[in-house]
Order: sequence, then C-alpha cells, then structure tokens
Amino acid sequence: MFGVWAPGEEVSKLTYFGLYALQHRGQESAGIALSDGERIVVYKDMGLVSQVFNEATLDSLQGHLAIGHCRYSTTGSPVWENAQPTFYTARAGGLALGHNGNLINTPELAAMLPDDRRGATTDTEVLTGLLADNPDRSTEEAALELLPKVQGAFSLAFMDETTLYAARDPQGIRPFVLGRLENGWAVASETAALDIVGATYEREIEPGELITVDERGVRSQRFAPAAPKGCLFEYVYLARPDTTIAGRNVNSSRVEVGRRLAKQHPAEADLVIPVPESGTPAAVGYADGSGIPFAQGLVKNSYVGRTFIQPSQTLRQLGIRLKLNPLREVIEGRRLVVVDDSIVRGNTQRALVRMLREAGAAEVHVRISSPPVMWPCYYGVDFATKAELVAGNLSTEEIRASIGADSLAFIDLEELVQATEVPKERLCRACFDGVYPIEVDEAARGKYLLEKSCGNAAERPLARGRR
Ligand code: SF4
Repeated sequence: MFGVWAPGEEVSKLTYFGLYALQHRGQESAGIALSDGERIVVYKDMGLVSQVFNEATLDSLQGHLAIGHCRYSTTGSPVWENAQPTFYTARAGGLALGHNGNLINTPELAAMLPDDRRGATTDTEVLTGLLADNPDRSTEEAALELLPKVQGAFSLAFMDETTLYAARDPQGIRPFVLGRLENGWAVASETAALDIVGATYEREIEPGELITVDERGVRSQRFAPAAPKGCLFEYVYLARPDTTIAGRNVNSSRVEVGRRLAKQHPAEADLVIPVPESGTPAAVGYADGSGIPFAQGLVKNSYVGRTFIQPSQTLRQLGIRLKLNPLREVIEGRRLVVVDDSIVRGNTQRALVRMLREAGAAEVHVRISSPPVMWPCYYGVDFATKAELVAGNLSTEEIRASIGADSLAFIDLEELVQATEVPKERLCRACFDGVYPIEVDEAARGKYLLEKSCGNAAERPLARGRR
C-alpha cells in the first residue's frame, strides 16, 4: 500500500513505482485512486502492477494526491469487485481507501452500515462505507470517531478530494511508514518503497495514530493508545529484505537467524544452499555460523507469480519446477543443508527434497529459519486453517519423514525473537505460539464471511499467491 500527497509531482507514476516495490505483498489485483483536488478517479484491475497499468493509463491519471494498493486477499474472494482502493461516494464528495491487514470485528462494523450501503463483501469495503457515511462531519472527524471501534490489523491509506490520511491499528501489526518528498509526503507499507520513489524515511506511523496530509502539512492525532504487537512473520518472510521495521533491517535479522540456526541445529554437510529468495539471507547466515560453504544450488524463475494462466493438469505435475530448478553440477554427490524461511503446508519442501535427490544430492538436511507455523493468522496473512498446517498436526520427526529429508530442524522462537532485536512483548507471535494479542471471536472468523452473509456464493481462490 502506498500513498502520496505532492503537488507538482507525477503522483500516478510515484504511486506506480511505490506499488511496484511492494508487489511481493499482493499479486492478485492492483489499483490507484487519484485526485486533482476536485474529483477522485480510481483505476484498478486484476493482475500484477505491471499488467494493470501502462504509460498511457498513468499519463491520464493527473492530480496531486493518490493512494495505491496491490491486493492479497485475506477477506473476500480475489475478484475485481474486491480489488482496492475501494471507493464510495460520500455525501460531501468521494472517499477511496486501501487496507493492509485484516479486521476481526467485521460483522459488528457491517451492522453499523446504513441500509443503502449494505452488501459489502470485504472488511475494507465496510470501513470505506462507514468513513464515507459522514453527512455532517469531515473525513477526519469521521475517522477519529470510527477508528477506535475497529479491531484487528489495519494499516490504512485513504483520501478524499483534497487530503491524504494514514492510520495504523493500536497494535501496529502491519508495518507502515511516513516519508518526505521534495514537494510533499508519502506513506508506504515498507521503507523499501520510500527508497524506490526517492522519499526520505521520516518515521513509522505509530500504532493508534491518524496522520493527515494536505496543504497545511502533516498533522498527527491519536485515536487509541499504542499497544505494539508487530507481526513477527514480517521478519521471517513477508517484508522485503531491504526494508527496515522498528529500526531493524530485515535482511540483517534474517542473516542473524541463520547464524543462530547453525549453532542450534548443526549438520554434517558439504554445502549450504538457500531456497531462493526468501531463504537466502538465512542461508548466508547459516554458512557463516557453520563454516560450511554457501552455494546457489537452485535457480529461481523470478517471473513466475500469480498469473492468469493456470497450469493444465499435465503442467501442474511439473509443479515446483516452474519456479525452481536444481543446478545438478553444484548438487550432485554433495551433502546439502537446505535453508528455507518457513514450512506451512509442507508441499513445497516435499517436492523440493525429491527434486534435489533426483539431481544427485547425497543427503538433504532441511533447516527452517522460523519455528513451526502451528496456528492460523487472523491479522492479514492467509495461512491455512490449523487442519491444513502441517506443523499443527505432525511432530518435527513426522514432518521430516513426510517431506523425505535426512534431517529437519526449526529455529527456536526465542532465538528468532532475539534476532529481530525487538522485545518479545512488542511482537505478535501467534502463528508460532498460539498467543493472540487481540482476541478473535469464533463468529467473526472466515475469509468469506461477508460474501456468505450477503448471499453470494463464495468464490474460491484460483491459487494461493504466497505461502
Ligand atoms: S499470527 Fe503470525 S503472521 Fe499473523 S500477525 Fe501474528 S506473527 Fe504475523
């Protein structure tokens, strides 16, 4: 998610590049809402940022204020109607909104919508409807009244015709930062997006803070006290390695986890190879910590992501090879330590171990730079249900046998936390330890909750974008 307020700048292109830098956070759909001070225009479609926008589209989007979003669905189906930014006509104009996270009191909020705005199919659409329902108040006043009632994970960028707003939930679960441009301001899900548009990092948007940006500058207000619980999985997998969260560079923390993993779970091996690319920093750390040489034993096709072309049954059997291909010359006859960031369902690792053995690996020792994922996430990561999480049902030894590795080990939670340099009590670790920082009501769970309640048959996702 990205937002910019910068008169005189090409804000559509800045937003495009910001989204491009954040593409890893969502590959289902992309959109930009832009205002020239009089009117908001929203352009969005299914697909990657580079598939949705071209030079001509961006040139046609003229204004000084924009928000952009690339979606990975955690509430509602991955369909055009649910793409963001969402837009509602407010009684005093328009309102567009982009959301990173997942709310946990959506039914309660949906019940607050006026009759003519019922039928929202995502938590984001509910929020937009409520913010736009402000006949007698400014958007800012409406936000200050609404946000204390919203529960769950939300980093929000929203806008009316003249003003950019950014808000972050009191736990600050998803990252969100403010940057300064020569002629304005930008907000982004990750610092890497600020770097890429040439914005200077100013600070994190604080948990429980609402920021307003207009011709009067940046104003900050607090809508709730901060109770920080940043997502630990951002450090493991979600965030780019060149991003900094809570003062800690993500790459450095991943390398440090790898060093600790080598000390905690050594292996007799000839080479350390990463599962590219999210396993690479931890593999570098493992090699450093163990003294075993590092090598690239798998080649990744960077262009395989979520596409409109679904593999046929025949091609699907090639499975992982579309993404990763082993370098036989490196692997053959070697005892390998293979470092990956996480195991969710276990399917990837099973296919990977088989592929490495077929390429001639003498031994395959799998090392994972996070603890077993045993619990679902209700705050913006579309992990499987507990029943589908391999570590929710099997012991480490059973998982090892299931993926066919010679050995398997996970980093301890304490070691991972220490590598982030963030105090444990300021992190959400729920998918690893089952301790949820915001209690989740059973009745409010479910990705397709609103689609079911409004009578639409829930459309199942075509495929998962990320693990
Ligand atoms: S449950 Fe896991 S993935 Fe979800 S916010 Fe907490 S640490 Fe992050």
